[in-house]
Amino acid sequence: MHYRNLGTTGLKVSEIAYGSWLTFGNQVELDNAKAIIRRAVELGINYIDTADVYERGQAEQLLGEILPEYNRRQLVIATKAFWPMSDHPSDRGLSRKHIIDSINGSLQRLKLDYVDLFYCHRFDPEVPLEETLEAVQDIIRQGKALYWGTSEWTAAQIAEAWGICKARGWQTPVVNQPLYNLTNRYIESDVLPVTRNLGMGTANFSPLAQGLLTGKYSKGKIPAGSRAADERLNMFMKDQVADMDLLDRVDKLGEIAKDYNISSAQLALAWVLQQDGISSVIIGASSVKQLEDNAAASGITLKEADLRTINQLFPA
Ligand code: NDP
Repeated sequence: MHYRNLGTTGLKVSEIAYGSWLTFGNQVELDNAKAIIRRAVELGINYIDTADVYERGQAEQLLGEILPEYNRRQLVIATKAFWPMSDHPSDRGLSRKHIIDSINGSLQRLKLDYVDLFYCHRFDPEVPLEETLEAVQDIIRQGKALYWGTSEWTAAQIAEAWGICKARGWQTPVVNQPLYNLTNRYIESDVLPVTRNLGMGTANFSPLAQGLLTGKYSKGKIPAGSRAADERLNMFMKDQVADMDLLDRVDKLGEIAKDYNISSAQLALAWVLQQDGISSVIIGASSVKQLEDNAAASGITLKEADLRTINQLFPA
């Protein structure tokens, strides 16, 4: 496993990070979750990503069963706040109250004293930005989070938050967590240039387009047990797995991967890791086998000519 600094911070994160959305507490039960985390740590993955809202706390709870086995110093744990945790109006968003309640709940479920990264999971237009930023600084001062970041904020929102923090002498956001993969390159137009310019790292989510880029949905076949086969889990990928043109282009990716003797998943991850400004890619895996496949993408370098072909197949 190779490691990179998270943006301009001194924090070293593994090129491949492991995330628990839609898997832990949903598809993946405790024994399988334990096996995946154990293997991830063995393979050198140090960054583990979760959120309060993943299965409304259950993903964090599962992690809390597993993490005490490890030396805290070897792990970089990230959690997030924004999405509703209950039907109560104050149990959501980025108000001071919800940020403080949320981090306390996360730490309790994770059985940790602190998280390394705290993400504002979305921008909250209903809360004054300064209120959010001050609350984030407070949890950092209290030692409950070491660094903080944004997730799916616009370039302008990130730049404004960064500017306020800088002017106040507060910790600026150090990382952004956007959706980014070969099928969705929207961040390249303005988000990525802005975060790069501000010295922030990018740890992108769904780098495999939720499994699509592994080639497993070739010709529109939906394997039993896959995310697309599960009506509870497939809401964000239904259109893509029915898009024959897209699936054909993914098959072509498989042909390039063959030349390197690597899997399509490894090729798709290696492509992301070769883009300027990326610190880490946050993969999901519902089995140890998938995790091993994906982790092996670290360190693969694609040739310029192949990068050009891939960029033509999946334009920005
Ligand atoms: P991916 O794009 O990596 O998709 C993961 C899924 O693809 C797996 O659960 C598995 O699904 C399938 N898969 C992965 N590897 C393989 C393989 N080698 N062979 C075959 N199938 C494979 O990422 P996710 O969409 O899961 O997101 C990753 C993480 O990013 C999340 O856990 C979360 O931490 C974070 N995230 C953050 C968001 C945010 O708003 N900040 C939003 C979404 C995610 P299956 O086996 O079921 O088919």
